[in-house]
Amino acid sequence: MFDWNQDPHRRFNPLSREWVLVSPHRTQRPWQGQVEKPAPETQPAYDPNCYLCPGNARAGSARNPPYTGTFVFDNDFPALKGDTTHERFEQSGLLIAETEPGVCRVVCFSPQHNLTIAGMTPGDLRRVVDTWVDQYQSLGADPNIGYVQIFENRGAMMGASNPHPHCQIWASRSLPNEPAREQASLLAWRDQHGTCLLCEYAKLERIGEKRVVEENEHFVTVVPFWAVWPFETLVLSKRHLGAIEELNSAERDLLAGILRQLTTRYDNLFEVPFPYSMGFHQRPTDKQPHPEWHFHAHYYPPLLRSATVQKFMVGYEMMAGPQRDLTPETAAARLRQASDIHYLDR
Ligand SMILES: [Zn+2]
Ligand SMILES: [Zn+2]
Ligand SMILES: [Zn+2]
Repeated sequence: MFDWNQDPHRRFNPLSREWVLVSPHRTQRPWQGQVEKPAPETQPAYDPNCYLCPGNARAGSARNPPYTGTFVFDNDFPALKGDTTHERFEQSGLLIAETEPGVCRVVCFSPQHNLTIAGMTPGDLRRVVDTWVDQYQSLGADPNIGYVQIFENRGAMMGASNPHPHCQIWASRSLPNEPAREQASLLAWRDQHGTCLLCEYAKLERIGEKRVVEENEHFVTVVPFWAVWPFETLVLSKRHLGAIEELNSAERDLLAGILRQLTTRYDNLFEVPFPYSMGFHQRPTDKQPHPEWHFHAHYYPPLLRSATVQKFMVGYEMMAGPQRDLTPETAAARLRQASDIHYLDR
């Protein structure tokens, strides 16, 4: 008899409409739960050499103000630039290029160099959520901006060069690949079923519970059925809403709360500052109504078995498609077991 918990199979991701190969039999070795703790790297509250700390010099002649809350500035080396004229190049239908106006910003979560989301107070974190809303609205109001991508890279493993807690916002005229793929899937689902794909998915997961990490009144965190990264999670709003700006005050507190709990569980899993890339997907700002969009956050952490063993997307994954050993159900169980009280506070 085929055993979904043991035998190799593939699972469909209805958002990206791609398949992931799951090979649970390869995790026969029992979970050791071993924690390879690298020497704790203590960071000072203020680092005179950090270009994000208050009062410090940045690239060129820029200097940070002595900020006390969140601090937003235009990236000194932006990947996108504003006043770009609209140009398109096309040759033989194969060589295609177009101009892409946009804005890149950095958001410091706190003046304190050594804080993380998990270590912030609910009030501090609420200010970060409010800053995200402000940025989504003000950047999105620009007629040249069709999409606002908010994302955070945490840890050297994910290419974050600076431990100061911050995220980035890249706003562009076009809808980038990942949200474009999801938008097509959300639209197709809506056309076919008359419902929202992610509302239906959240309902299913909350009934099944196997992949739910935790939930509060407004949000639920799951390891998606189709997760690729070992401890990948999806944070879904329970109410159908398209963008972060539609969250009311209580819901913004609840978003701050569930992100704090999730990052705490992540840190506790291997008792290290857990690296990840996270980002929100939400309604484009192209001035269309987009009732198909459902606000959510993805977390893609690279760690597999310990603080030092990471998953690589190479070989088969580069050439063919993603593969995982650990089942999403097992990953969710481990994240539930990881306490939501931070290991450094115990
Ligand atoms: Zn700093
Ligand atoms: Zn929905
Ligand atoms: Zn998404």
